[in-house]
Amino acid sequence: MRWKGRRESGNVEDRRGRTAKGMVGGGIGSIILILAIYFLGGDPTQLINNVQLDGTSTTSSYEGTAEENELAQFVSVVLAETEDVWTEIFRQAGQNYKYPKLVLYTGSVQSACGLSGAATGPFYCPGDYKLYIDLSFYDELKTKFKAPGDFAMAYVVAHEVGHHVQTLLGINEKVNSLRSSVSEKEFNKYLVRLELQADYLAGVWAHYAERTNLLEEGDLDEALNAASAVGDDRIQKSTQGYVVPESFTHGTSEQRKRWFYKGFKSGNLEEGDTFGAENL
Ligand SMILES: [Zn+2]
Repeated sequence: MRWKGRRESGNVEDRRGRTAKGMVGGGIGSIILILAIYFLGGDPTQLINNVQLDGTSTTSSYEGTAEENELAQFVSVVLAETEDVWTEIFRQAGQNYKYPKLVLYTGSVQSACGLSGAATGPFYCPGDYKLYIDLSFYDELKTKFKAPGDFAMAYVVAHEVGHHVQTLLGINEKVNSLRSSVSEKEFNKYLVRLELQADYLAGVWAHYAERTNLLEEGDLDEALNAASAVGDDRIQKSTQGYVVPESFTHGTSEQRKRWFYKGFKSGNLEEGDTFGAENL
């Protein structure tokens, strides 16, 4: 990707080097939360185990390697490019695009969605409008997922931004409201549609990235390869040796790749209705 010299986003929160660890029990707020869960009939023990505060909120800046810092710069440029594209798409629809924040972290991180460890991978939390990325995922993409290249990482950022767009459009909330009324198996089907739509939206962004001459030879293939590398079937096969389609939450390699490509070709929001699509 031709990213050097381009605008970096002002919406990056660098929490690298700060491990989200803290006191078990985590203060009055979490006690109230635990009680609330208890009265709602839930099992609060899981929360008790997970509730930790970002206790070490020092402001000392993280000294990464040159390579790490370049990667941080890179994702910041990608975020800025998504800001420009989505601002314009929302504007054309007569809406305001509210920017998400990108939190860079190492190890574990506290978000409105709870405490997340290194194994979580990049994620978006609708509760605080933030994307969370441990930059070591870039190496993981390369080695574990066999999806090297900077545009593979750009796809990952754009996919998480896609979840932010879904949140602004109210789609996330609609899907989540179904969680308690349908079976897990049924709910997973909605999750797959949600994830494939985020892939589509990442593709829409890439469509405009190409127009602004950001893409280099091979970039599109890097993204398609990454989308297919994180398909549920591929991941299940490599981690457990067999595939359980009912447990899919993100879609198959083929589906993920296809919806990204569809968004890339079209650049148009209307064609990304994975919920209305008969065949995914
Ligand atoms: Zn996702």
